Formats: sequence, structure tokens, C-alpha cells
Amino acid sequence: MIIKPKFRRFICITAHPKGCEKNVLNQIDYIKSKSQFTNARKVLVIGASTGFGLSSRITSAFGSNASTIGVFFEKPPVHGKTATAGWYNTAAFEKEAHKEGLYAKSINGDAFSNEIKKQTIKLIKEDFEKVDLVVYSLASPIRKHPVSGVQYRSVLKPIKNPYTNKTVDFHTGEVSEITIEPCIDEDIENTIAVMGGEDWSIWIDKLKENNLLANNFKTVAFSYIGQWPTEQIYRNGTIGKAKEHLEQTAFLITNSLQKINGKAFVSVNKALVTQSSSAVPIIPLYISLLYKVMKDEQVHEGCIEQIYRLFSERLLLDKIPKDSEGRIRIDDFEMRDDIQNKVSELWDEVSTESLMSIGDLEGYRTDIFNLFGFNINEINYEKEVDEMVNIPSLENFFT
Ligand code: NAD
Repeated sequence: MIIKPKFRRFICITAHPKGCEKNVLNQIDYIKSKSQFTNARKVLVIGASTGFGLSSRITSAFGSNASTIGVFFEKPPVHGKTATAGWYNTAAFEKEAHKEGLYAKSINGDAFSNEIKKQTIKLIKEDFEKVDLVVYSLASPIRKHPVSGVQYRSVLKPIKNPYTNKTVDFHTGEVSEITIEPCIDEDIENTIAVMGGEDWSIWIDKLKENNLLANNFKTVAFSYIGQWPTEQIYRNGTIGKAKEHLEQTAFLITNSLQKINGKAFVSVNKALVTQSSSAVPIIPLYISLLYKVMKDEQVHEGCIEQIYRLFSERLLLDKIPKDSEGRIRIDDFEMRDDIQNKVSELWDEVSTESLMSIGDLEGYRTDIFNLFGFNINEINYEKEVDEMVNIPSLENFFT
């Protein structure tokens, strides 16, 4: 089939298997060009198919020869309809890992459910014995609670007051003003239920109950802070409350792991183009300006550069550098005063007319298309490709 990008608002509903494969190969090449580390051996990544989770899986496997189990929620292909990008990413990842003799198996389904946790625990018992590291990198708009059955929906809204600021439609480049109405009370609780720390702690509790955590075990989840102009909708908004909950959960998990000297961390990462961040209004314009400034200053990073730096210079060290709130920071370049001041100046000037020259909308767009395997130079998009790509460890998914 000939596969072209087809967007519904900010999400592309097609994905290109060869393009996704190329993205994964590029990330693998990046990790192979760096020095190896040896202290992550058996790694479980929850949310392993795209964004920071995929980069964590690649970094563990190709930077540390780790065996990896990846959990995610992706759509397999059916004849005439492509899979989601994360499916093709994982197919490419497993193929490359297996070529190098690395263990890599995947589980596709709702990580919030008891069923997927059970399947994962069974697989760890059979193949791993114990895990050394769990990366928790879920980003989801909904969560069905495994006990109550209640379905929670997360929202990205300011709290108390409406928030008005500029945003961009990345398809047209039009800069306009948007007002986001404040949340209602239940929104905060619902967003915490989806994106807070409860599910992370359930995962770790269940692994602990089954005696599957190695001595000196570590687990990490990801957060974001940022500052003006994203603050009112992100850190001070509903999602910020969920991130505060996630950050507090790290301390509770660490307390529960004293016997095995286990530790839970939250890493505050940089704003990046991923499937989840494109859904947050204002953020695409902020990222377009931020990319321009960070590229000019030669400190721009994508997911793989961020995660390599997290693993090699923070998370896997004996003494981990942390901020006053106990968080790991790899958003340090983004948060530098000179970078933020420059973004702020550009923000005041930015308009539809000036964005192309003062910002990096092109870089933003390229990254969005790349997420789905499109706009990659080496790929011929006029050529027929087989959409029915298999993930080796999930052969039975095909009907
Ligand atoms: P992403 O959308 O690229 O990846 C999300 C992953 O979660 C995918 O593997 C997807 O399959 C999986 N997933 C979603 N729902 C699932 C479910 N119910 N069951 C199993 N798997 C499921 O997201 P991302 O941007 O890499 O975000 C990962 C984490 O990093 C999030 O906590 C996010 O808030 C945080 N973060 C993101 C940014 C950013 O700019 N993107 C910055 C800092 C922190």
C-alpha cells in the first residue's frame, strides 16, 4: 500500500512502517555512538513504544545490553489500514535487538488494567527472575480504574481563572489568541487519577509482592515544569496537580522499598514534540520558539539525547544529582535564564508573519511528521510498502 500522512487535527491517523523503522535505527545509531554503561540489565518500560519510553528502551538495550520488556497500547495493522506508529517502532526495535542477541519482548494492552499487570508479572517470572529498572512513561487521556471500574478523563486546563495567550495551528502557521476556560472541581481529581502516581505505585507494589524487584532496584517516571507562558495551563493547571502527585508518589515508593534499597525518582524532562505534547494548546508555539533558541545555542535535544543524558549522567550513578525537591533535572538547558529570556522576548514579537523567521515552526512540523514515520529524507513515500508488519514477540496479534 502507498502510505501518506492523514491528520485529524494534531494526530496523524496513518503511520509509515519504513519511516518509523528509520527513526528507531537513527536512535539506535545515536546510542551506539556513545559510551556504554553496564548497570541496567533487566528493564521493564511501561509506555515503551513512542516518546521518552521508546528512547528509554533503546538506551537500555543498546547502551547497556539490557534485556527489555516493553508494555504499551498500540493498534496493530489490518489489511489496508496502517498500525499506529508505536506498533511499527516496536517492530523495528525488536528486530534490531534480536539481531544483536538481545532479549526483547512486548505486551500490548491497557497498562492500567490488572490483566496487563498480571501478564507482565508472568513474563518477568518466566524470563527475568527480577527487574533492575522500571521506567514508567505512560501518557494517556483516560484511565479505567482497575478496582472501581470508573473511567477517568484527564484534562489540560487552568485552575480558577480562564487563561488567554497565543497559540499556533502548526498546519497553517497561523498564530492566534486562545482562551482556555478553567477546569471544574472534578477535573483536578480526574486528571490526578489518570496522570498522577497511583498506577505507578500499583505497578511497583505488585512487582514487590511477587518478589520481582532486584536489590538496589530503581524506578523513574517523567514530569515537566516549564515557566511562563506555559505555566498557567501546565504546571499551575490540572496536569501540574497530577505531576505534583506523581512527584510525591516517588517518595512513598522509595519508603516502601527500603528492604531492598530500592529507589523511585521523578525526572523533569524538556518540552519535546511527542504525540501527547502536541495536544496541549500554547505548547506548540512555545516549542517552536524554544527549538529556535536552543538550536541557535547548540543545546537542542530530542528524546534520545535527553534519555541518554538521564541514564549516563544521572539515574544510573551511585550518587544522583537532584534539585531541592528531590527531582532529577534534565530540563536544565531549557530552563537556563538566557534561553528563557530569549524565548520570552520572541513570544512578545511573534505573529503569523514573523513566526517563520523568528521561530522554528518548520522544525516543529518536521518532528510531528517524523513521529508517524513521515518526512524522512531517505524514505520514498511513492513506493508500495507492506503495512502488515509484525512485532516478533507478538505474532499472535494478527488474525
Ligand atoms: P507518548 O505519547 O510519546 O508515549 C506514551 C506511551 O504510553 C506510548 O508508548 C503509549 O502506547 C503508552 N500508553 C498510553 N496509554 C496506555 C495504556 N493505557 N496502556 C499502556 N500503554 C499506554 O508520551 P511522552 O511525551 O513520551 O510522555 C511520557 C511521559 O513523559 C509522560 O508522563 C509525560 O507527561 C512526560 N513528559 C513529556 C514531555 C514532553 O514534552 N513530551 C516533557 C516532560 C515530561
